[in-house]
Amino acid sequence: MVHLKSAEEVQIIKESAQILGRTHAEVAKLIKPGVKTQRLDEVAEQYIRDHQGIPSFKNYGGFPASLCISVNEVVVHGFPSGYELKEGDVISVDCGVQYKGYHSDSAYTYPLEGVNEEILLLLNRTLDSLYLGIDQAKAGNRIGDVGFAIQNYVEQFGYGVVRELVGHGVGKKLHEDPEVPNYGKRGKGVKIVPGMVFAIEPMINMGTKNVVQERDGWTIRTKDRKPSAHFEHMVGVYEDGTEVLTTHEFLEEAYLYKWRNKSR
Ligand code: MG
Ligand code: MG
Repeated sequence: MVHLKSAEEVQIIKESAQILGRTHAEVAKLIKPGVKTQRLDEVAEQYIRDHQGIPSFKNYGGFPASLCISVNEVVVHGFPSGYELKEGDVISVDCGVQYKGYHSDSAYTYPLEGVNEEILLLLNRTLDSLYLGIDQAKAGNRIGDVGFAIQNYVEQFGYGVVRELVGHGVGKKLHEDPEVPNYGKRGKGVKIVPGMVFAIEPMINMGTKNVVQERDGWTIRTKDRKPSAHFEHMVGVYEDGTEVLTTHEFLEEAYLYKWRNKSR
């Protein structure tokens, strides 16, 4: 069942998303070779709690941390750890904030310097695909239009679209209906109506779309161990348009390596 949000609820979600966006920026400042990923998690949790938020992920279904940190062939749901980032890595940081009872959720994949050109293209194209999905997330369209836009764009490059994990409604719960797959057919699926708030989050693999879950019960990696990219925004759908509720603006300012090739 889809819970439609009032204007007041969307306003609180936007406040939650502002804290989230600033949390991402605090993390982005620290991403460089030599940093342990658990340090990023500590900084994120502290920032969220200092701003009257609660880390949405911590203890969610037993997840042990405030961030999902997914390096290289890890697609999503990796644990922060003693792993030290190194040149040429890519690291996806996914974070959620609960504020005044409402969640926000967004993710970004950072290339470290020294990453190869092929991986930079994967990241740029995955981020482009997120915005192509967002363009379709408007009242009157269907959820399949969003997934189609993402899939149709990235598959031309031979990339794999992860099937097992999908975007989702967000509100009082971190994961609500509808599910928002990154694949689909035009004109199919749940109708998009004003009041919907949902996350769009393409998870795009350099190689095969197939993934495996590690024995820890969380970490999802690519079956062929090729790298993967993950970017996530939340949108609010109104009668007269759609608003991106989360922001990557602060983290893009904070991250020193300016890698993004704005192709659209
Ligand atoms: Mg999400
Ligand atoms: Mg997320």
